[in-house]
Amino acid sequence: MKQKSELERLEPKDEYDIREEDLEEEIKFVIDKDAFKGPFICHSKKTILEDKKVSFNDLNFNYSIWKCKKCGKEYLDSEQGRRFEKFLIIKKLLEDNLITIERNMNFDGKTYFFRFPKELTNNLHKDDLVDIKLLTPDGKTFLVEIKHRD
Ligand SMILES: [Zn+2]
Repeated sequence: MKQKSELERLEPKDEYDIREEDLEEEIKFVIDKDAFKGPFICHSKKTILEDKKVSFNDLNFNYSIWKCKKCGKEYLDSEQGRRFEKFLIIKKLLEDNLITIERNMNFDGKTYFFRFPKELTNNLHKDDLVDIKLLTPDGKTFLVEIKHRD
């Protein structure tokens, strides 16, 4: 099952190679595997912060990237990486291109709840934190993110 963001979190890669057909440009950058805050060192020099923008339809996404002046390699710190990941999720949402799972609502007389499909629970732990963001004022659309406690 394609659970891209989850996989990347579990197996951090040195190199991100994101090719999103609909983005106007090909995006390629490196996420440093240890240091999660720039500036990074490349060619024994500190990288320089540069502002970038990608667009999808009317949706603009601004982010900052650390760039090596010598080789032009671009480094994204983990915070910007997470923001970028969210942008790609929103893009997929707009394209109606996300994996969708329907569940029945359960009610035990006091509490409403639903069950996660078994295939998606491998990375869940009993102590995980569930971060719920309300997306619409009618209380019917949410963004749910499972966060591991460190
Ligand atoms: Zn370099």
